Amino acid sequence: MNPLGRIIGYLAPFVCLDCGDEGLLLCSWCRSSLSHVQSRCYRCLTPSSKGKVCIACHDTLTATLARTSYDQILVRKMLFKLKSDRAGSVAIEMAEMMAPLLRQTDPTSIVTYAPTSTRRVRSRGYDQAQLIARYLSRSSGLPYRRLLARVGHTRQVGADHQSRQNQLISAFRVISPGHITGRSIIIVDDVMTTGATLETAARVLVEAGATQVTAVVFAAAQKLL
Ligand SMILES: [Zn+2]
Ligand SMILES: [Zn+2]
Repeated sequence: MNPLGRIIGYLAPFVCLDCGDEGLLLCSWCRSSLSHVQSRCYRCLTPSSKGKVCIACHDTLTATLARTSYDQILVRKMLFKLKSDRAGSVAIEMAEMMAPLLRQTDPTSIVTYAPTSTRRVRSRGYDQAQLIARYLSRSSGLPYRRLLARVGHTRQVGADHQSRQNQLISAFRVISPGHITGRSIIIVDDVMTTGATLETAARVLVEAGATQVTAVVFAAAQKLL
């Protein structure tokens, strides 16, 4: 665990989210129990190098990389905890586990995040994706920049892939276009289910001149939705 995590842990000792062992938010045993996701195209699940999206499936995302799969109870516990009082510690933990994925990306990339809808951020006081993106930038040395903002509100519950995309079509706008043109961008998020939200975020980045957009997430859904 990094120094900041150690200090937080000292002030209020952690209990492992999974086994209840005292000391760390996630003990080394439980951490190692998290499955790894095979590098593949996120749409058709065909194995591919460095998470590349295959030509037939290519939309706006160049590649997607995930540390683990969403269909584990421990992962759901972590995602739930990310929305609690210990969000910062969980974000550090997730960023540490995601850091090796960045070695598979363009080393000149800028790290950004897909903002959560503003109403939810306001009620919680922070954006969990932003927390992870910042820690990931710090541990990888890649520059972090806020590039996207949310436009209005969208509802995602119960909607299928296509209608989610339609609802989200104008849900993001770029806020620093000068930093996007000709650059590779990494969008960080905590979870990816259909990929529709990240595709929409990638679309505005590509339209603003990004050369490629890679999504790096903590957990991805294993099955086609
Ligand atoms: Zn444990
Ligand atoms: Zn594919």
